[in-house]
Amino acid sequence: MARLETARLETARVDDGRGGERTYDVVVVGGGPAGATAATDLARAGHTVLLLDKPGRIKPCGGAIPPRLIRDFAIPDALLVAKIRSARMVAPSGKAVDMPVGEGFVGMVDREQFDPWLRTRAEQAGAELREGSFETMSRPDDGLPRVHFSTGAGEALARHAVRARLVIGADGACSPVGRAEVPGHAKMRQVFAYHEILRVPQAGAPGAESVEASRCDVYYQGRHSPDFYSWIFPHGDTLSIGTGSAKKGFSLRSSIRALRVATGLDQAETVRREGAPLPLKPLKRWDNGRDVLLAGDAAGVVAPASGEGIYYAMLGGRLSAEAAAAFLKTGDARALAQARKAFMKLHGRVFWILGMMQWVWYRSDGLRERFVSICRDKDVQQLTWDSYMNKELVRAKPAAHARIFFKDLAHLFRWVSP
Ligand SMILES: Cc1cc2nc3c(=O)[nH]c(=O)nc-3n(C[C@H](O)[C@H](O)[C@H](O)COP(=O)(O)OP(=O)(O)OC[C@H]3O[C@@H](n4cnc5c(N)ncnc54)[C@H](O)[C@@H]3O)c2cc1C
Repeated sequence: MARLETARLETARVDDGRGGERTYDVVVVGGGPAGATAATDLARAGHTVLLLDKPGRIKPCGGAIPPRLIRDFAIPDALLVAKIRSARMVAPSGKAVDMPVGEGFVGMVDREQFDPWLRTRAEQAGAELREGSFETMSRPDDGLPRVHFSTGAGEALARHAVRARLVIGADGACSPVGRAEVPGHAKMRQVFAYHEILRVPQAGAPGAESVEASRCDVYYQGRHSPDFYSWIFPHGDTLSIGTGSAKKGFSLRSSIRALRVATGLDQAETVRREGAPLPLKPLKRWDNGRDVLLAGDAAGVVAPASGEGIYYAMLGGRLSAEAAAAFLKTGDARALAQARKAFMKLHGRVFWILGMMQWVWYRSDGLRERFVSICRDKDVQQLTWDSYMNKELVRAKPAAHARIFFKDLAHLFRWVSP
């Protein structure tokens, strides 16, 4: 921000829009899964929390969530718009492999309902929820940070500021808080993901046979994504059809147009078209060593290869609340680094493995064909679902791990045909 603008902020009449400048223990910027979880946990622990969320946009998202998330974060059944019992992996040749989930299901949520529900839960726990847009932070007397934000728009636009002992930036991949406060944030590597929400065609209408209410379809086809995958995820009456890529110049919209034609869904009614960046790698630092901590997409936490981010955002929110509580108790800013440390201890290895998988298998149609082919293997299916559903690598099955390792090698080096 230009020096003049900063000076304007420092001298502006500071009020929180409610008659005075308030100081909170924590201001959480962003009321998505990460921010709403952090705010809920902190408010439940008795801290004063302002949860600030920019209104007016539904988060673009496929909405697939694992049972571990449903369990750990007490998500009610009523929020699930579909229950998925199998995944269909489609190879470049069009050959498909079905992977039944086995016991249990993958939940599907609509972010239009899911995110407001999470924010309401934070409010019920005692957090103050405000619709507003974070603008910047200042430290006028070198004391507690001042958080500047705006509410309303046009003629009704108003600027406010509050103070906080700690700011949690849970404001998504582009994170204005991260960019302003955490070195290196602007260089965060990202994939861009785009999807369209369609009305599911009536039985017998074109495209109806491409959608099965309890099955997710995953397309590993270079023409639809040269470095990621494309999907059709059912959501009850609607579905999400989308794709992602980090390749500059690759048209995600054209890719989805082609996938809609290929699946007969080109005639289906389009409800929304939207896209957003997906981080590719957890940032090396999630805090500024002083009074700011990042969580969720803002910290770069999305699983490589799958693009799964909701569970990791909520866990990141929870761990950031724990680190924040330790910081508030002692005033020692080193406590903030615990959030990243704890997260990487739990999931660093899986992120590394998924990163390798993406690098090895998503590079060419030949490799994608082999990747889909190994998904036929029952050991591969079971370990994939076990680790997705429960977020744990199953150590109790060393023989299956070894078999998969050798089968992977066999496919990679073409000792077997796809
Ligand atoms: C197309 C697509 C499909 C996806 N599909 C899946 C999937 O099926 N399953 C899965 O697990 N993950 C999926 N993801 C990833 C998942 O959506 C994210 O990882 C997850 O939403 C991250 O949560 P978050 O709370 O960190 O950030 P977000 O959900 O991005 O929330 C950020 C919040 O910050 C607010 N905000 C932004 N700027 C400001 C500001 N200046 N002031 C105040 N508030 C602000 C926003 O309004 C928003 O509410 C998908 C992502 C995309 C783009």
